[in-house]
Amino acid sequence: MPIYEYKCSSCDHQFSHLHKRLGEPAPACPSCGGNKIEKLLSTFSAKVSSGSSQRCSVSNSCPASASCAGGSCPFG
Ligand SMILES: [Zn+2]
Repeated sequence: MPIYEYKCSSCDHQFSHLHKRLGEPAPACPSCGGNKIEKLLSTFSAKVSSGSSQRCSVSNSCPASASCAGGSCPFG
């Protein structure tokens, strides 16, 4: 379940909201109850951007050798 960061356009209050399902509309501001809500970038999305050329550290015995060769080994 993704957690999104939001900012209220009315009172500038920032808050995070845990989405229980996809497509859930933005929540109302917990501070002023307004519904002019801006979605901010997720706090944990930044760490996915690098490392596409990483090599698996499990090497020969890697159980995911197929995707490991593509540089996206989930074990390495
Ligand atoms: Zn507000």
